Amino acid sequence: MILEGITVGPFQENCYIVGDESGEGALIDPGDEAARIALAVEQSGVEIGSIILTHSHIDHVGAVAELAEEYSCPVLLHAEAEEMLQAVPQQAAMMGVKFGKVPEIDRYIETGETLEVGGLRLRPLYTPGHAPGHLAFYVEAEGLVLSGDAVFAGSVGRVDLPGGSMEVLMKSIREEILTLPDETRLYPGHGPATTVGEERVSNPFLNGQMSQMGGMDGTGGPS
Ligand SMILES: [Zn+2]
Ligand SMILES: [Zn+2]
Repeated sequence: MILEGITVGPFQENCYIVGDESGEGALIDPGDEAARIALAVEQSGVEIGSIILTHSHIDHVGAVAELAEEYSCPVLLHAEAEEMLQAVPQQAAMMGVKFGKVPEIDRYIETGETLEVGGLRLRPLYTPGHAPGHLAFYVEAEGLVLSGDAVFAGSVGRVDLPGGSMEVLMKSIREEILTLPDETRLYPGHGPATTVGEERVSNPFLNGQMSQMGGMDGTGGPS
């Protein structure tokens, strides 16, 4: 499997290029800096056949419209993330950041399906709480998850944005992520890669430490 991360934009978001051995592939969350992502794609030799989104926050979708046009490829997202996607221009204006064009979604991802990217099989893990319709993508054959903003190394996604809920996020992580084998690698939307086992033991949001400290103020990690 080809897997390459590119950190882009003011929110330091991780876009991932994924591909099978023959070079058939997809982009996960191209959030900003379309030209830099396109260059990395060219250097990777991967043919982009689709753009797959974990959720529709501004930092994950900023380069989607431009790259979908460049590769003439479909854009996939969970249906529950569509409303927030349409609100991104207002969000950008409020935050004083530039935003190009809202991408058109070609197909909604169903939670029970398996996405085929060349020879790779990506299973969507329904993990709301950070954002409506948030998905992580489990590549079981490779023992890895493209985990979006659900869980980070040492933290979890923030829940203070519209549609956020710490209770829902914790349920998502407990049921969809912590049930995976300890050695499963997690490639999050922000920060370094980690493993399920590492987070189970050392992540204060997941190992019980946070509730003992009376924490859980719901701010969580980055956007
Ligand atoms: Zn993010
Ligand atoms: Zn987010």
